Amino acid sequence: MNCRHCGKPLKHTFLDLGFAPPSNSYLSEVELTAPEIYFPLKLKVCDSCWLVQTEDYAKAELFFSKDYAYFSSTSSSWLEHAARYAINMTERLGLGVDSFVIEVASNDGYLLKNFLAAGIPCLGIEPTASTAAAAEQLGIPVLREFFGEALGKQLAHEGRQADLIAGNNVYAHVPDINDFTRGLKAALKPNGTITLEFPHLMRLIEHTQFDTVYHEHFSYLSLHTVSRIFAAVGLRVCDVEELPTHGGSLRVFGCHTEDARVGSASLAAVLEAESDAGLRDLAVYETFQQRADEVKNGLLSFLIEQKRAGNKVAAYGAAAKGNTLLNYAGVKPDLLSFVCDAAPSKQGKYLPGSHIPVFAPEKLKLEKPNIILILPWNIADEVMLNTSYIRQWGGQYATAVPTLEVK
Ligand SMILES: [Zn+2]
Repeated sequence: MNCRHCGKPLKHTFLDLGFAPPSNSYLSEVELTAPEIYFPLKLKVCDSCWLVQTEDYAKAELFFSKDYAYFSSTSSSWLEHAARYAINMTERLGLGVDSFVIEVASNDGYLLKNFLAAGIPCLGIEPTASTAAAAEQLGIPVLREFFGEALGKQLAHEGRQADLIAGNNVYAHVPDINDFTRGLKAALKPNGTITLEFPHLMRLIEHTQFDTVYHEHFSYLSLHTVSRIFAAVGLRVCDVEELPTHGGSLRVFGCHTEDARVGSASLAAVLEAESDAGLRDLAVYETFQQRADEVKNGLLSFLIEQKRAGNKVAAYGAAAKGNTLLNYAGVKPDLLSFVCDAAPSKQGKYLPGSHIPVFAPEKLKLEKPNIILILPWNIADEVMLNTSYIRQWGGQYATAVPTLEVK
């Protein structure tokens, strides 16, 4: 296999998580009696451009057969993050009624509704029918398509280039990152701005966040590599912000190469931090597997100890990262009896692979587990606030990444 960005042969494995089912393929009761398809889950690193990427596998077309929809608006902290972004960008770029904002992967309108409310014309691009419909109900125009060079050129041809193109947690999820980036270039006005948010590879490595790896997450990105991908299509990164979201993300600001804007000081700072963290050196990639295995073993030991002590353990948050962790560790309902999630679309279903049942959060009050393992550790504070009643029966919380912690 060759690198999806620069085309050089991929010779180095970064992480091998064995085989796993698609992380968002929640199963119904009936589906539990049918075979379940597992795909290899392996990351490679390119020693030329340092793009960390999922390995291609056979029969990938089977992968996206299920129409599973994640609704961004179910997390209140994410909604606040989006609202702040809209205010900041409106001020920073001086957006108004004559401006045009495009969001790629606009989901249920969680972000664009803020621009709509401010009277700024906007367009969402979202291929998932159910979330697109939710955005349209809010009054947001949505193109139900995948974004790439073809759609970017079509928008430009129609005179619909944007002052601002936003992409939150989509850049790492596109299979063809070069085509997507050419689309950004085509759809951007001459003095326009692109912002992309994605989990920062440096934080993934630093905090052993191997559970953020799943098949739909194709690319694991550093500022260094994104700068190279931008440069290859005539774009330039002109600023960067470090964000606490998803365990440590970057928000990069992009513009056309010839744009007059001067690159910010934070660009050099983040590039230097990446260099100091060894991101342009094979050693840091080659030792990651061992660190991931230690996290996995720590969780397994803990669950076995709890079982032997007669304690009941449940989980909170049926998120993709939880499925990666549980499937890699081989955890089944004997060690983790159920998981709670606030999203009605997941309740009554079973986690892919582990087949742990998903219930509404009210189940905690009935079962009174001794330990609640919070799987989406990035929203642990929010979960603890919403379920603080577990303290009434002496319940405690646990998180597994980067090391097992009980609180
Ligand atoms: Zn490469």
